[in-house]
Order: sequence, then structure tokens, then C-alpha cells
Amino acid sequence: MVELKTNISNIKNNIAKFLDLLFITDILIKFQRYLLPKHIRSVNYHDLMLGRENLFEEHIKFFVKNYQILGRQEIESYFDHKDNTKPGLLITFDDGLLSHYNIAYKILEKYGLKAFFMVPGGFIVSKNSIEFAKTNHIDYYESPAKSVSMNLQQLKEVSINHEICCHTWNHIRLTPDLTQLDYIHEISDAKEKLSKLIDKNVDSFCWVGGEEYTYSKGAFAEIKRSNYTLCFTSNNSPLYKGSNRLFINRTNIEYYYPLYLMKFQVSGLMDLLYIKKRKRVAKIINAD
Ligand SMILES: [Zn+2]
Repeated sequence: MVELKTNISNIKNNIAKFLDLLFITDILIKFQRYLLPKHIRSVNYHDLMLGRENLFEEHIKFFVKNYQILGRQEIESYFDHKDNTKPGLLITFDDGLLSHYNIAYKILEKYGLKAFFMVPGGFIVSKNSIEFAKTNHIDYYESPAKSVSMNLQQLKEVSINHEICCHTWNHIRLTPDLTQLDYIHEISDAKEKLSKLIDKNVDSFCWVGGEEYTYSKGAFAEIKRSNYTLCFTSNNSPLYKGSNRLFINRTNIEYYYPLYLMKFQVSGLMDLLYIKKRKRVAKIINAD
């Protein structure tokens, strides 16, 4: 059985708790808001658990208060409007899971927010989503439901107000040892097929995995060739007006993180920890 980790590294958890008690996390978040140039942060979630929706909703309430939450069409205009005083925020959900429809989508609608769903098309149309998840390394929580993915009808409903992004077709890590045909199948064919499925043009891509070995020059060349206009990685950093839109770094948050840990993740400290990895990945894929 694939199970998501629910244990947070103890050291990180204790540091986050300590910094929050001293209000340092809040100060860092304010510092970013008032002293950094205008920027947009991106966060990503994985599976969410039914019955524990309130934890995720707490995060959303914090985001609503402290950020301007943006949809696909609002990214560029955000930078042009002088009256935006809060940092922007893109909320993203990886893997096309059923909980994204049952929990995330419902809560986003309740608050009138827009978000990004990173979807491996093959997962949505698979006959046995549990088998697909196991074979293709999609982590999920056990539930009595027969399926762990959204079905096409649910995905289409989500696509009305939210951005559906290609997360390869088979949830494949785009390592350098894959062939050109693999890249085409997982990047450009996946874009076409997902666009057809939802009857809407898909123009954003999201890498799978996030480990350093999962980035490759060949895959990035294919991403550019396929005319994607946004491309998401992990690696923690805000997007600025002049930043490369094909190298949007996201910060990982799990729905069960207590507020102090969620705030720690977006406090800017993670950005600093990832400076070297970001540079290495940019070099691997040739993105500057
Ligand atoms: Zn994924």
C-alpha cells in the first residue's frame, strides 16, 4: 500500500514551532510583503484526507488574509497593477486526485478562489486508478472510494474556474536517460491529449518528482518546443516580474501541517535553503 508520510521531520517542526512562538515567522512574512519587490509565491499540495478538511481550510483562511490569490489569467496583470499590496499566491494541487475534487475544489469555490491542478491525463482515464497510482508513484490516502483519481466529468467541472496543467501523461519522472520519444509522449502528446479531454487549451506544465535527477535538458527542450507558457518545478522561490515563467518554483505544503509549519514554509527561509539546488537545476535544464 502506498501511504503518505504524516511524520514531519522533528528538527524542522521544532524550529518552526520555536520561530513562531517568538513571532519570527510572522516578521519574516511581513518582511517579504513590505520589503521584497512585488512577487508571487507558489505552493503545492498533494492528497487531502476526508474528515480533516478543516486543517486545509485553516491554511486557506491564512492565505486569503495575507496574499492575493491569483488564477492563470491574473499573473501578468498582478505585476502591472500598482494597488496590489499583498504578495501574490498560486495554489497548486499535484496528481489529479479525487480529494482535489471532493475537498480542495469545494473549499476553493466556497472562498471564490482560483487554483492550478497538475494532472497526469493517463490517471484520469485509467480503468483502475489505484493500480495506476501504485505503478506510477502517485501517493494517496486509503479510503473506501473505488477510485483515487478524479474522473473526467469532475476534472471538466474543475476546469471551468481553475487551470488544468499537464503533469506528464503517466506521472513520469523526466530523467535524462529517457528517449526523445518518451519526452514527446509525456510532454507534447500529453498536452494535446489533456487539452482534448477537457476541451480547453492546456498551456502549463509541471515536472514530476522534484528530485534533482528528475530534471533533464532533453525534457526542458521538449517543454519549450511544445509552447507551454508556464512551467512549475519544486525548489522554493517567489516569481518576480522578470522571472522565467518556465521556471516557477513552488513550496511544498501538506494539508495536515499545523499553521506554524505552513507559515515557516512560506517565510522565505526555505527559499534560502534551496538557493544551491535551484542553481543546479537551472544549470541541468539550461534555464536562466
Ligand atoms: Zn506528481
